[in-house]
Amino acid sequence: YLTIKGLAKSFGENEVLKNIDFAIDKGKVISIIGPSGSGKTTLLRCLNTLEQPSKGLFTFEDGLTLDFSKKVNKQDLLKLRRKSGMVFQSYNLFPHKTALENVTEGPLIVQRRNKKEVTKLAKELLTKVGLKDKMDLYPNQLSGGQQQRVGIARALAIQPELMLFDEPTSALDPELIGEVLRVIKDLVNEGWTMIIVTHEIQFAAQVSDEVLFMDGGYIVEQGSPDKVIRNPQEPRTKQFLDRIL
Ligand code: ATP
Repeated sequence: YLTIKGLAKSFGENEVLKNIDFAIDKGKVISIIGPSGSGKTTLLRCLNTLEQPSKGLFTFEDGLTLDFSKKVNKQDLLKLRRKSGMVFQSYNLFPHKTALENVTEGPLIVQRRNKKEVTKLAKELLTKVGLKDKMDLYPNQLSGGQQQRVGIARALAIQPELMLFDEPTSALDPELIGEVLRVIKDLVNEGWTMIIVTHEIQFAAQVSDEVLFMDGGYIVEQGSPDKVIRNPQEPRTKQFLDRIL
């Protein structure tokens, strides 16, 4: 679906992504693990145009190609932006909009789709994430787990090709993590193409086709969960896993 070669990103002097190469096939799930500050979030944001890479070649199966070592045109950036839906660590819902309005916002305002159709889709998505009875509530009337499920429905509503999850459970109380992971698991079973940054290592091992371990802006190790999580080869991966498991 997408191949990335030589992705680099600097903030001033600080190079936080260094020569990142990876590819993801359609319908596959990649998890990104690694210590705080290793560049995981920045990598996701580069995929969603929230950050612009300093270098790197993105090649999509459908022919869209972006070469960030040159000037990239706005049209192509917009195409890249529209390919993915992002779920944020801190939900990022509009506080003054109901759950339903949060989900319809993107398709209505950004994609200018038909209101009746979008409302129907949003209701289906909220039902799918288990919030059929909560559609008219505001974010502050919902638990963290419920808010994050609205966040997932909102990302799905733009009908993206790729779903990006940035530590979707790390702001949640332990007892609310399971309900969000279950929804993500349903999406895995439906065959979505997904990249998940997570500290939930067991979950990553269960759902991922491939795991990337990042440290210091590099992908230090990548491969199947059996390889990277259950039988890591690199000392830095071993050390990280020993500390958190
Ligand atoms: P965490 O698990 O704590 O979220 P992470 O692996 O996702 O960490 P990033 O958030 O990608 O790491 O951050 C990588 C580095 O980039 C950090 O040193 C951070 O301070 C720096 N950084 C991230 N965003 C910016 C920014 N907008 N401006 C300057 N520096 C930034």
